[in-house]
Amino acid sequence: MEKKIVKIENISFKVCEIPLTRKELKNLLNYHIPCLCCGEEMLHPDIYTKLMEMPELSGSALEAISVLSPYEKIMHPVERQVFNMFKTMAVKYPDKNFKELLQMKKDIHELALVKIQSVIFNKISFYRRILPKKTARQIRKLMIKTNDIIYDPEPHKPFSRRIFIYKLKNIIKNLESKKIKEEILEIARRLPRSSDEVCAFVVKNARKRSSVIALNLIHPSVGTFEHLMPKCMKGLNNSLNFALECSYCNNSRHHYPISVQIEENPYMPQNAQIQIDKLISLCKKGLCKKEYIINLQQILHILSDEMICLDISRLDV
Ligand SMILES: [Zn+2]
Repeated sequence: MEKKIVKIENISFKVCEIPLTRKELKNLLNYHIPCLCCGEEMLHPDIYTKLMEMPELSGSALEAISVLSPYEKIMHPVERQVFNMFKTMAVKYPDKNFKELLQMKKDIHELALVKIQSVIFNKISFYRRILPKKTARQIRKLMIKTNDIIYDPEPHKPFSRRIFIYKLKNIIKNLESKKIKEEILEIARRLPRSSDEVCAFVVKNARKRSSVIALNLIHPSVGTFEHLMPKCMKGLNNSLNFALECSYCNNSRHHYPISVQIEENPYMPQNAQIQIDKLISLCKKGLCKKEYIINLQQILHILSDEMICLDISRLDV
């Protein structure tokens, strides 16, 4: 799959005045706004900041659970599963903290993770048969190093999905066949992230402090400003170019065009409609500006190659 570049000159902003200040846009997160992309309800960032200061999150699992319980319903699926695992374990081990509980589960989850990873690494290694000799040799080297890490129960440095994909991209960047290049990367992207698999969450977080583990359970749900036209492509830094998106979706998109984000999140157009319906309801109560909604609808329509066509007819009813 080739990444398309969105040309900035195609975009003509019909609204010149900034419809909402940053503060006004952030305030909308007080009203259970669903993420534009995944549709999950978002958490106001100020609540997250307050949680960062709670000493209970470093205490026993029981203490941390009582602080986090009100936010269970906004946790993303993997994080909610881990939270439920903590609740079950805390009954049995009331004095242990999140880190100690994850340490107890680490070995079994690491084994499950390595099983998933090794299938993917085998698939990538298979390409050595059809790649130019130099590239095949470099992939072999990368795989030997990677296997040394994942099969070592106490590796010097833990496996990093991000670094692995970065190194792989570098090795195959000069391949002539874009199709093969994209196939290899597509396989590598299937490597589990801590947001996709409980086992990856447990392995990644078992090394962290209890308070960090606790915050990682809710961090993906924190509401953020997504630059619809990425900043690196000279996208505006105000509400004419901002959509409310959860931290997980915002971080996953990087600087890719919205059309690519839809390929990876096929329900995004429907979820965007749910968000805009919610914004229209708030607008009728005087809590959101009509101009922001009209601009959001237009920008999404253009930047998504017309894949997101939102119905805002209720605005005028
Ligand atoms: Zn999201």
